[in-house]
Amino acid sequence: MGDCRRCGKCCTGLTFTLPGVASNRLFREYYQAHGCRIEGNTLHVPLRCPHLTEENLCDIHDTKPLLCKTFRGKKQGKFYVDKGCGYND
Ligand code: SF4
Ligand code: SF4
Repeated sequence: MGDCRRCGKCCTGLTFTLPGVASNRLFREYYQAHGCRIEGNTLHVPLRCPHLTEENLCDIHDTKPLLCKTFRGKKQGKFYVDKGCGYND
């Protein structure tokens, strides 16, 4: 396992496993209209957390959510960074 590269990907884009998202027309149209990308059962949401600084640091580091504190790149539940996270190397 590698280390965090401070690339900020985990704070700028969310990837979810969402079974059926591609086959449900309403879901598909809604997410695509909001700039999301769908690949099979995977939904990519291009959001930048408002707490991420320009240096890719977290401005609420001491009080950030538990998911952020425990994040290690690999798939955790429905949320993960699929490519490029240093923890995945
Ligand atoms: S995606 Fe991985 S390497 Fe990049 S900032 Fe998040 S934890 Fe660190
Ligand atoms: S709260 Fe901090 S660690 Fe969590 S997504 Fe936002 S910037 Fe990233």
